[in-house]
Amino acid sequence: MKKHWNETPLVAFTVDVEQDAPPYFSSWRGIEEGMPTLLALLERNGVQGTFFVTGETAERYPGIIMAAASSHEIGCHGYDHSRFDRLTMPEQESQIRRATAALQSTTGQRPRGFRAPNFQYTKNTLKLLTQAGYTYDASKARYHRAPANPGVDIVQIANVFPSSILRLPGSVSLPLLRFILKRLPLLVLNFHPWELVTMSGGRLDIRYATGAPATHRLEIVIRTLLDDGAAFITMNEAANWLRDP
Ligand SMILES: [Zn+2]
Repeated sequence: MKKHWNETPLVAFTVDVEQDAPPYFSSWRGIEEGMPTLLALLERNGVQGTFFVTGETAERYPGIIMAAASSHEIGCHGYDHSRFDRLTMPEQESQIRRATAALQSTTGQRPRGFRAPNFQYTKNTLKLLTQAGYTYDASKARYHRAPANPGVDIVQIANVFPSSILRLPGSVSLPLLRFILKRLPLLVLNFHPWELVTMSGGRLDIRYATGAPATHRLEIVIRTLLDDGAAFITMNEAANWLRDP
């Protein structure tokens, strides 16, 4: 595999779209207040991202998801953010089927990619995704143990850092991101709309620097990576490239 696509460092900016920091909160402030901020931030920087959306979110907030779908890729994030490693195979199948239908009826397009809630899945998840026509899976994280692929034809793309890294000051996050960008063919970043809303209560790593500091720091990271010459691509583009480099 070529180290870089056309020798350009590649970044995939992904967003998991669900209720606020499940299972710690049950509010939806991220969707109502964070999504408009996030969509505006990406638009003014010309960045196309990939939003992994739960079926429940698409049903509750179709207008916001349609707005995201007009500029970004929409992937599937299960129906109600249940952890797939705690579900039976029929329950997993039901989550995938209901979420796929909700996303397709909201956006008019069938999602191609999937990310399991909390990056937790089983070998059966990959089998079910292939049967449902998904071409890539983004449920792996480099900082989690992951089940092996049971031999099904699906591109797997691993997340590189927990989302909280993007809420650290740029003096801390940027050296780490640049280090990885020099060594991996693709830097996959992950974020949530609720991180752009001031969260109080819950674990420190969840509420740390949420709201205005996160918005400011995320924009610094994106602008610096763009200044470095990085290209932002969707996960579907990344999957096509990984399948046929
Ligand atoms: Zn999630």
